[in-house]
Amino acid sequence: MSLILGLEGTAWNLSAAVVNEERVVHEAEATYKPAHGGIHPREAAQHHAAELRGVVSRVLKSLSKIDAVAFSQGPGMGPCLRTVATAARALSLALKIPLVGVNHCLAHIEIGRWQCGAEDPVVLYVSGANSQVLAYRAGRYRVLGETLDIGIGNALDKFARHLGLSHPGGPKVEELASRGTKFIHLPYVVKGMDLSFSGLVTAAKDALKVGEEKEDVCYSFQETAFAMLTEVTERAVAHLGKEEVLLAGGVGANKRLQGMLQTMCCDRGARFFVPDAKYLKDNGAMIAYLGLLMFESGETTPIEKSAVKPNFRPDEVEVGWRTVALKALSERLEE
Ligand code: AMP
Ligand code: MG
Repeated sequence: MSLILGLEGTAWNLSAAVVNEERVVHEAEATYKPAHGGIHPREAAQHHAAELRGVVSRVLKSLSKIDAVAFSQGPGMGPCLRTVATAARALSLALKIPLVGVNHCLAHIEIGRWQCGAEDPVVLYVSGANSQVLAYRAGRYRVLGETLDIGIGNALDKFARHLGLSHPGGPKVEELASRGTKFIHLPYVVKGMDLSFSGLVTAAKDALKVGEEKEDVCYSFQETAFAMLTEVTERAVAHLGKEEVLLAGGVGANKRLQGMLQTMCCDRGARFFVPDAKYLKDNGAMIAYLGLLMFESGETTPIEKSAVKPNFRPDEVEVGWRTVALKALSERLEE
């Protein structure tokens, strides 16, 4: 059985975990909280550098044999990615074990499939910087639709900041929205399968300026943005004839978004999967787990190819691990 160490630190959360095929064995994290405003990439990287030793030693303490070290190679904030990649390279050299560079978005998807037992879902991936609808086809996760400007998490965080609320703003907007009653029309921007959120943030700020209550604006913001996301997800399910929907990314913790997707899935007879909140947000276990899948299908990353990729897209990755799993399954069925 392989034992893999995973390191995550693309943005606000520095997190390490050790996993094997059966479970998450150890996990530890240290969270960067900006003193004011949004995430400052250099400050976040300094936070990660200061906390790395403590976080890694908490997950490694009782273990003698790690088979590989996986790290988030991108997408993410350059300074944060570089700090964590440097630590991963150092561990790989010191422990004489392979390095596995992992795409952060795909790690969100694979830990969700693992945790929930989803086989071939349409995935709605909604985090700070990213908002994408994806599905697997012919060796890759294809991006079927995505935001054309900012991620939904950033949109919520920006609006929350405007209300004087601290980072992360998503949960605070959710709480205010639960007390809103009046629906205010805000820009609903779906272009084909793509989405745009920046006009929504501006219009929500304008609504406050003309005296609308903040609870009502938060409510309307969520109703509008989440309906856009649900519409695009539904269209992907309909076009592809898929029977499963998987939610991934930190914004997935939002109960209203979960509710809308659940209703859509019920209407279409699809199954809806939501991982535990700790595996929705950025976490080391997802990096370790995708690292394990890649390592076991023979994919490792030589040091000279381990440079970070701040704009690393999920559809750049050739997915070897799913075909390996299929082959193993068909061999077992033949036996
Ligand atoms: P991630 O980058 O995947 O860790 O997700 C972080 C983003 O999730 C931040 O933008 C948070 O504001 C957002 N978020 C966390 N919890 C919630 C929630 N309950 N509702 C909406 N957004 C949330
Ligand atoms: Mg993420």
